[in-house]
Amino acid sequence: MDFIDLKSQQHRLRPLLEERIGAVLDHGQYILGPEVQELETTLAQYVGTRHAIGCASGTDALLMLLMALDVGPGHLVLTTPFTFIATAEVIAFLGAVPVFVDIDPETFNLDPDKVRLALEALKRGDRSLHPLPHGALTASVRGIIAVDLFGVPADYAELETIAHEEGLFVLEDAAQSFGASVHGVPACRFGHGAATSFFPAKPLGGYGDGGMCFTNDDAMAEKLRSLRVHGQGSHRYEHVRLGVNSRLDTLQAAILLAKWTVFQEECRRRQDVAARYIALLEEIRPDLVVQRVPQGVVSAWAQFSLLAPSPEERDAMRKRLQKAGIPTAVYYPVPLHRQPAFAYLGYRVGDFPVSEDLAGRIVSLPMHPHLEPEVQEHIVQSL
Ligand SMILES: *Cc1c(COP(=O)(O)O)cnc(C)c1O
Repeated sequence: MDFIDLKSQQHRLRPLLEERIGAVLDHGQYILGPEVQELETTLAQYVGTRHAIGCASGTDALLMLLMALDVGPGHLVLTTPFTFIATAEVIAFLGAVPVFVDIDPETFNLDPDKVRLALEALKRGDRSLHPLPHGALTASVRGIIAVDLFGVPADYAELETIAHEEGLFVLEDAAQSFGASVHGVPACRFGHGAATSFFPAKPLGGYGDGGMCFTNDDAMAEKLRSLRVHGQGSHRYEHVRLGVNSRLDTLQAAILLAKWTVFQEECRRRQDVAARYIALLEEIRPDLVVQRVPQGVVSAWAQFSLLAPSPEERDAMRKRLQKAGIPTAVYYPVPLHRQPAFAYLGYRVGDFPVSEDLAGRIVSLPMHPHLEPEVQEHIVQSL
Protein backbone atom coordinates (compact mmCIF):
# COMPACT_ATOMS: atom_id res chain seq x y z
CA MET A 1 0.00 0.00 0.00
CA ASP A 2 1.22 3.52 -0.75
CA PHE A 3 1.01 6.36 1.77
CA ILE A 4 0.23 8.64 -1.19
CA ASP A 5 -0.73 6.89 -4.41
CA LEU A 6 0.57 8.92 -7.35
CA LYS A 7 0.58 5.96 -9.72
CA SER A 8 -3.19 5.72 -10.31
CA GLN A 9 -3.28 9.43 -11.03
CA GLN A 10 -0.43 9.17 -13.50
CA HIS A 11 -2.06 6.21 -15.20
CA ARG A 12 -5.27 8.22 -15.76
CA LEU A 13 -3.40 11.28 -17.01
CA ARG A 14 -0.61 9.64 -19.00
CA PRO A 15 -1.78 10.66 -22.52
CA LEU A 16 -2.38 14.28 -21.45
CA LEU A 17 0.94 14.42 -19.58
CA GLU A 18 2.79 13.16 -22.63
CA GLU A 19 1.01 15.66 -24.85
CA ARG A 20 1.88 18.56 -22.53
CA ILE A 21 5.51 17.45 -22.09
CA GLY A 22 5.80 16.88 -25.83
CA ALA A 23 4.64 20.43 -26.52
CA VAL A 24 7.46 21.81 -24.34
CA LEU A 25 10.04 19.60 -26.06
CA ASP A 26 8.73 20.92 -29.39
CA HIS A 27 8.89 24.63 -28.57
CA GLY A 28 12.01 24.35 -26.42
CA GLN A 29 11.35 27.32 -24.12
CA TYR A 30 12.50 25.50 -21.00
CA ILE A 31 12.88 28.61 -18.84
CA LEU A 32 9.72 30.70 -18.25
CA GLY A 33 8.05 29.26 -21.33
CA PRO A 34 4.36 29.82 -22.15
CA GLU A 35 3.17 27.00 -19.84
CA VAL A 36 4.46 28.91 -16.80
CA GLN A 37 2.32 31.90 -17.60
CA GLU A 38 -0.65 29.69 -18.47
CA LEU A 39 -0.40 28.00 -15.08
CA GLU A 40 0.05 31.35 -13.28
CA THR A 41 -3.06 32.76 -14.97
CA THR A 42 -5.09 29.61 -14.34
CA LEU A 43 -4.19 29.33 -10.65
CA ALA A 44 -4.52 33.07 -9.96
CA GLN A 45 -8.04 32.91 -11.37
CA TYR A 46 -8.90 29.84 -9.26
CA VAL A 47 -7.52 31.42 -6.08
CA GLY A 48 -8.94 34.84 -6.90
CA THR A 49 -5.76 36.90 -6.61
CA ARG A 50 -4.53 39.44 -9.14
CA HIS A 51 -1.11 37.79 -9.32
CA ALA A 52 0.52 34.37 -9.21
CA ILE A 53 4.30 34.06 -9.59
CA GLY A 54 5.77 30.61 -10.21
CA CYS A 55 9.12 29.73 -8.62
CA ALA A 56 11.41 26.79 -7.94
CA SER A 57 9.90 25.52 -4.65
CA GLY A 58 7.53 26.30 -1.82
CA THR A 59 10.54 27.23 0.28
CA ASP A 60 11.65 29.78 -2.32
CA ALA A 61 8.09 31.14 -2.55
CA LEU A 62 8.23 31.89 1.20
CA LEU A 63 11.75 33.28 0.93
CA MET A 64 10.83 35.60 -1.94
CA LEU A 65 7.73 36.88 -0.12
CA LEU A 66 9.90 37.81 2.87
CA MET A 67 12.49 39.41 0.54
CA ALA A 68 9.72 41.39 -1.18
CA LEU A 69 8.75 42.70 2.28
CA ASP A 70 12.42 43.63 2.98
CA VAL A 71 12.70 41.31 5.98
CA GLY A 72 16.26 41.06 7.27
CA PRO A 73 18.56 41.61 10.28
CA GLY A 74 16.91 43.41 13.17
CA HIS A 75 13.50 41.97 12.38
CA LEU A 76 11.31 39.42 14.14
CA VAL A 77 8.73 37.21 12.44
CA LEU A 78 6.21 35.19 14.46
CA THR A 79 5.42 31.63 13.37
CA THR A 80 4.47 28.17 14.60
CA PRO A 81 7.03 25.61 15.83
CA PHE A 82 4.72 22.80 14.61
CA THR A 83 5.52 22.91 10.90
CA PHE A 84 8.06 21.83 8.33
CA ILE A 85 11.46 23.50 8.85
CA ALA A 86 11.12 25.62 5.68
CA THR A 87 8.61 28.02 7.30
CA ALA A 88 11.07 29.23 9.93
CA GLU A 89 14.24 28.49 7.97
CA VAL A 90 13.56 31.29 5.48
CA ILE A 91 13.12 33.83 8.31
CA ALA A 92 16.47 32.90 9.83
CA PHE A 93 18.16 32.62 6.44
CA LEU A 94 17.46 36.32 5.81
CA GLY A 95 19.04 37.24 9.15
CA ALA A 96 15.74 37.85 10.93
CA VAL A 97 14.74 35.99 14.11
CA PRO A 98 11.85 33.50 14.22
CA VAL A 99 9.65 33.98 17.29
CA PHE A 100 7.73 30.79 17.92
CA VAL A 101 4.15 30.85 19.16
CA ASP A 102 2.31 27.69 20.20
CA ILE A 103 -0.63 26.14 18.36
CA ASP A 104 -4.28 25.42 19.06
CA PRO A 105 -4.54 21.81 20.34
CA GLU A 106 -7.54 21.03 18.11
CA THR A 107 -6.76 22.67 14.75
CA PHE A 108 -2.95 22.33 15.17
CA ASN A 109 -2.61 25.88 13.75
CA LEU A 110 -1.16 29.09 15.24
CA ASP A 111 -3.20 30.19 18.28
CA PRO A 112 -4.18 33.88 17.92
CA ASP A 113 -4.49 34.37 21.70
CA LYS A 114 -0.89 33.25 22.13
CA VAL A 115 0.14 35.56 19.27
CA ARG A 116 -1.32 38.48 21.30
CA LEU A 117 0.55 37.26 24.37
CA ALA A 118 3.84 37.02 22.47
CA LEU A 119 3.39 40.54 21.11
CA GLU A 120 2.64 41.83 24.63
CA ALA A 121 5.77 40.08 25.96
CA LEU A 122 7.84 41.74 23.22
CA LYS A 123 6.38 45.17 23.94
CA ARG A 124 7.01 44.94 27.65
CA GLY A 125 10.30 43.06 27.24
CA ASP A 126 8.91 40.48 29.64
CA ARG A 127 9.92 36.88 28.99
CA SER A 128 7.74 35.67 31.86
CA LEU A 129 4.64 36.44 29.76
CA HIS A 130 5.70 34.31 26.79
CA PRO A 131 8.92 32.49 25.79
CA LEU A 132 11.14 34.67 23.56
CA PRO A 133 14.29 33.81 21.58
CA HIS A 134 17.73 35.33 22.08
CA GLY A 135 17.92 38.72 20.42
CA ALA A 136 14.17 39.31 20.54
CA LEU A 137 14.34 42.39 22.74
CA THR A 138 16.65 44.36 20.46
CA ALA A 139 14.75 43.68 17.23
CA SER A 140 11.39 44.83 15.90
CA VAL A 141 8.39 42.72 14.94
CA ARG A 142 7.53 42.84 11.26
CA GLY A 143 4.96 40.12 10.71
CA ILE A 144 3.48 36.67 11.05
CA ILE A 145 3.78 33.55 8.90
CA ALA A 146 0.79 31.32 9.52
CA VAL A 147 0.78 27.72 8.28
CA ASP A 148 -2.32 25.91 6.98
CA LEU A 149 -1.28 22.63 8.60
CA PHE A 150 -2.29 19.42 6.81
CA GLY A 151 -4.65 21.48 4.62
CA VAL A 152 -6.65 23.38 7.29
CA PRO A 153 -6.30 27.16 6.81
CA ALA A 154 -5.15 29.05 9.91
CA ASP A 155 -7.47 31.51 11.70
CA TYR A 156 -6.89 34.44 9.32
CA ALA A 157 -9.90 36.44 10.57
CA GLU A 158 -8.16 36.77 13.96
CA LEU A 159 -4.58 36.91 12.70
CA GLU A 160 -5.36 39.67 10.19
CA THR A 161 -7.16 41.68 12.90
CA ILE A 162 -4.10 41.45 15.16
CA ALA A 163 -1.77 42.30 12.27
CA HIS A 164 -3.86 45.33 11.34
CA GLU A 165 -3.85 46.62 14.94
CA GLU A 166 -0.10 46.17 15.23
CA GLY A 167 0.92 47.23 11.72
CA LEU A 168 2.32 43.81 10.83
CA PHE A 169 2.21 41.72 7.67
CA VAL A 170 0.63 38.28 7.48
CA LEU A 171 1.92 35.63 5.09
CA GLU A 172 0.11 32.38 4.40
CA ASP A 173 2.22 29.24 4.17
CA ALA A 174 -0.24 27.34 1.99
CA ALA A 175 2.21 24.60 0.98
CA GLN A 176 -0.26 22.00 2.26
CA SER A 177 -3.57 23.76 1.66
CA PHE A 178 -3.94 24.39 -2.06
CA GLY A 179 -7.58 23.46 -2.73
CA ALA A 180 -8.82 24.36 0.80
CA SER A 181 -11.23 27.22 1.53
CA VAL A 182 -12.77 29.28 4.35
CA HIS A 183 -16.41 30.26 3.79
CA GLY A 184 -15.78 29.81 0.07
CA VAL A 185 -12.56 31.88 0.01
CA PRO A 186 -9.76 29.69 -1.39
CA ALA A 187 -6.49 29.13 0.46
CA CYS A 188 -3.63 31.25 -0.97
CA ARG A 189 -5.83 34.36 -0.84
CA PHE A 190 -5.13 35.23 2.80
CA GLY A 191 -2.67 37.75 4.17
CA HIS A 192 -0.45 40.07 2.14
CA GLY A 193 0.86 37.14 0.18
CA ALA A 194 0.72 33.36 0.13
CA ALA A 195 3.15 30.62 -0.82
CA THR A 196 2.31 27.16 -2.06
CA SER A 197 4.42 24.15 -3.04
CA PHE A 198 4.20 21.73 -5.95
CA PHE A 199 6.42 19.11 -4.27
CA PRO A 200 5.08 15.75 -5.56
CA ALA A 201 3.33 14.79 -2.31
CA LYS A 202 1.41 18.08 -1.91
CA PRO A 203 -2.27 18.33 -2.94
CA LEU A 204 -1.28 19.79 -6.34
CA GLY A 205 2.09 18.11 -6.89
CA GLY A 206 4.36 18.04 -9.92
CA TYR A 207 7.11 15.58 -10.82
CA GLY A 208 9.84 17.56 -9.13
CA ASP A 209 10.17 20.77 -7.15
CA GLY A 210 8.08 23.84 -7.77
CA GLY A 211 6.23 26.60 -5.96
CA MET A 212 4.11 29.70 -6.39
CA CYS A 213 3.51 33.06 -4.70
CA PHE A 214 0.07 34.69 -4.70
CA THR A 215 -0.74 38.32 -3.96
CA ASN A 216 -3.19 41.10 -4.73
CA ASP A 217 -0.50 43.73 -4.31
CA ASP A 218 0.73 44.96 -7.73
CA ALA A 219 4.00 46.39 -6.38
CA MET A 220 4.75 43.21 -4.45
CA ALA A 221 4.04 41.08 -7.54
CA GLU A 222 6.43 43.16 -9.62
CA LYS A 223 9.11 42.77 -6.97
CA LEU A 224 8.56 39.00 -6.83
CA ARG A 225 8.89 38.71 -10.63
CA SER A 226 12.17 40.61 -10.42
CA LEU A 227 13.44 38.66 -7.37
CA ARG A 228 13.05 35.28 -9.09
CA VAL A 229 15.45 36.34 -11.85
CA HIS A 230 18.35 37.85 -9.87
CA GLY A 231 16.58 41.14 -9.16
CA GLN A 232 16.25 41.91 -12.85
CA GLY A 233 15.28 45.45 -13.84
CA SER A 234 14.14 46.76 -17.21
CA HIS A 235 16.39 44.35 -19.14
CA ARG A 236 18.19 41.08 -18.53
CA TYR A 237 21.50 42.62 -17.47
CA GLU A 238 20.16 45.38 -15.27
CA HIS A 239 19.80 44.28 -11.65
CA VAL A 240 17.89 46.70 -9.45
CA ARG A 241 18.09 44.56 -6.31
CA LEU A 242 19.72 41.34 -5.13
CA GLY A 243 17.52 38.39 -6.00
CA VAL A 244 17.69 34.64 -6.44
CA ASN A 245 17.49 32.16 -9.32
CA SER A 246 14.10 30.62 -8.69
CA ARG A 247 11.93 29.92 -11.68
CA LEU A 248 9.24 27.28 -12.07
CA ASP A 249 10.49 24.96 -14.84
CA THR A 250 8.37 25.04 -18.00
CA LEU A 251 8.27 21.22 -17.90
CA GLN A 252 6.87 21.27 -14.35
CA ALA A 253 4.28 23.87 -15.35
CA ALA A 254 3.24 21.62 -18.27
CA ILE A 255 2.88 18.64 -15.92
CA LEU A 256 0.89 20.73 -13.44
CA LEU A 257 -1.44 21.94 -16.20
CA ALA A 258 -2.21 18.30 -17.01
CA LYS A 259 -2.79 17.53 -13.33
CA TRP A 260 -4.94 20.63 -12.97
CA THR A 261 -7.61 19.04 -15.20
CA VAL A 262 -8.46 16.55 -12.42
CA PHE A 263 -7.54 18.66 -9.39
CA GLN A 264 -11.02 19.80 -8.38
CA GLU A 265 -12.41 16.30 -8.75
CA GLU A 266 -9.51 15.03 -6.62
CA CYS A 267 -10.35 17.61 -3.95
CA ARG A 268 -13.91 16.28 -3.80
CA ARG A 269 -12.63 12.72 -3.56
CA ARG A 270 -10.36 13.71 -0.67
CA GLN A 271 -13.43 15.08 1.15
CA ASP A 272 -15.14 11.70 0.72
CA VAL A 273 -12.06 9.79 1.87
CA ALA A 274 -11.78 12.00 4.97
CA ALA A 275 -15.49 11.68 5.77
CA ARG A 276 -15.23 7.89 5.56
CA TYR A 277 -12.20 7.84 7.88
CA ILE A 278 -14.05 10.02 10.38
CA ALA A 279 -17.15 7.79 10.34
CA LEU A 280 -15.09 4.59 10.69
CA LEU A 281 -13.02 6.05 13.54
CA GLU A 282 -16.10 7.20 15.44
CA GLU A 283 -17.37 3.65 15.28
CA ILE A 284 -14.17 1.70 15.92
CA ARG A 285 -11.69 3.99 17.72
CA PRO A 286 -13.64 6.90 19.26
CA ASP A 287 -10.67 7.52 21.61
CA LEU A 288 -8.54 8.79 18.71
CA VAL A 289 -8.84 12.55 18.09
CA VAL A 290 -8.96 13.78 14.48
CA GLN A 291 -7.70 17.28 13.56
CA ARG A 292 -10.63 19.71 13.93
CA VAL A 293 -11.86 21.42 10.77
CA PRO A 294 -13.62 24.62 11.93
CA GLN A 295 -17.11 25.60 10.76
CA GLY A 296 -17.09 26.91 7.18
CA VAL A 297 -13.64 25.47 6.45
CA VAL A 298 -12.97 22.92 3.71
CA SER A 299 -9.64 21.20 4.33
CA ALA A 300 -7.40 20.21 1.43
CA TRP A 301 -6.68 17.03 3.44
CA ALA A 302 -3.01 17.00 2.49
CA GLN A 303 -2.70 14.69 5.48
CA PHE A 304 -5.23 12.81 7.57
CA SER A 305 -3.81 13.16 11.06
CA LEU A 306 -5.02 12.02 14.43
CA LEU A 307 -3.88 12.01 18.03
CA ALA A 308 -3.39 8.85 20.08
CA PRO A 309 -4.12 9.01 23.83
CA SER A 310 -0.39 8.59 24.61
CA PRO A 311 2.99 8.40 22.84
CA GLU A 312 3.18 4.69 23.78
CA GLU A 313 -0.19 3.99 22.14
CA ARG A 314 0.83 6.01 19.07
CA ASP A 315 3.97 3.94 18.61
CA ALA A 316 2.09 0.67 19.25
CA MET A 317 -0.53 1.67 16.67
CA ARG A 318 2.13 2.42 14.08
CA LYS A 319 3.73 -1.00 14.71
CA ARG A 320 0.37 -2.77 14.30
CA LEU A 321 -0.27 -0.97 11.02
CA GLN A 322 3.25 -1.65 9.78
CA LYS A 323 2.74 -5.38 10.44
CA ALA A 324 -0.47 -5.19 8.38
CA GLY A 325 1.50 -3.56 5.52
CA ILE A 326 -0.01 -0.11 6.09
CA PRO A 327 2.38 2.86 5.97
CA THR A 328 1.98 5.74 8.43
CA ALA A 329 3.93 8.94 8.99
CA VAL A 330 4.63 11.33 11.85
CA TYR A 331 4.42 15.05 11.02
CA TYR A 332 6.26 16.40 12.96
CA PRO A 333 8.25 14.37 15.49
CA VAL A 334 10.44 17.31 16.59
CA PRO A 335 8.96 20.83 16.99
CA LEU A 336 11.20 23.49 15.47
CA HIS A 337 12.29 25.06 18.79
CA ARG A 338 13.87 21.67 19.62
CA GLN A 339 15.74 21.35 16.31
CA PRO A 340 19.55 21.52 16.58
CA ALA A 341 19.57 24.10 13.77
CA PHE A 342 17.57 26.47 16.01
CA ALA A 343 19.47 25.78 19.24
CA TYR A 344 21.00 29.28 18.92
CA LEU A 345 17.58 30.79 19.60
CA GLY A 346 17.87 29.54 23.18
CA TYR A 347 14.45 27.98 23.56
CA ARG A 348 13.87 25.31 26.19
CA VAL A 349 11.90 22.10 26.58
CA GLY A 350 8.46 23.08 27.85
CA ASP A 351 8.34 26.43 26.03
CA PHE A 352 5.60 25.24 23.65
CA PRO A 353 3.73 22.49 25.51
CA VAL A 354 0.98 21.93 22.92
CA SER A 355 3.44 21.38 20.06
CA GLU A 356 5.61 19.16 22.26
CA ASP A 357 2.62 17.06 23.35
CA LEU A 358 1.33 16.68 19.78
CA ALA A 359 4.75 15.69 18.43
CA GLY A 360 4.58 12.65 20.71
CA ARG A 361 1.00 11.61 19.94
CA ILE A 362 0.35 12.51 16.31
CA VAL A 363 0.18 10.07 13.40
CA SER A 364 -0.97 10.42 9.78
CA LEU A 365 -2.80 7.66 7.89
CA PRO A 366 -2.51 6.96 4.14
CA MET A 367 -4.37 9.74 2.28
CA HIS A 368 -4.96 10.29 -1.43
CA PRO A 369 -7.96 10.78 -3.73
CA HIS A 370 -7.99 7.16 -4.90
CA LEU A 371 -8.12 5.45 -1.51
CA GLU A 372 -10.88 2.83 -1.66
CA PRO A 373 -13.55 2.33 1.04
CA GLU A 374 -12.51 -1.32 1.65
CA VAL A 375 -8.89 -0.27 2.12
CA GLN A 376 -9.91 2.44 4.59
CA GLU A 377 -12.00 -0.09 6.52
CA HIS A 378 -8.95 -2.39 6.66
CA ILE A 379 -6.75 0.50 7.88
CA VAL A 380 -9.11 1.52 10.68
CA GLN A 381 -9.72 -2.12 11.69
CA SER A 382 -5.94 -2.56 11.94
CA LEU A 383 -5.72 0.41 14.34
C1 LIG B 1 6.38 21.37 1.90
C2 LIG B 1 6.33 22.55 2.76
C3 LIG B 1 7.12 23.69 2.53
C4 LIG B 1 8.23 23.73 1.52
O1 LIG B 1 7.85 23.40 0.21
P1 LIG B 1 8.98 22.85 -0.80
O2 LIG B 1 8.30 22.95 -2.13
O3 LIG B 1 9.30 21.46 -0.40
O4 LIG B 1 10.15 23.76 -0.71
C5 LIG B 1 6.94 24.78 3.34
N1 LIG B 1 6.05 24.79 4.33
C6 LIG B 1 5.28 23.71 4.60
C7 LIG B 1 4.28 23.79 5.72
C8 LIG B 1 5.41 22.55 3.84
O5 LIG B 1 4.65 21.48 4.12
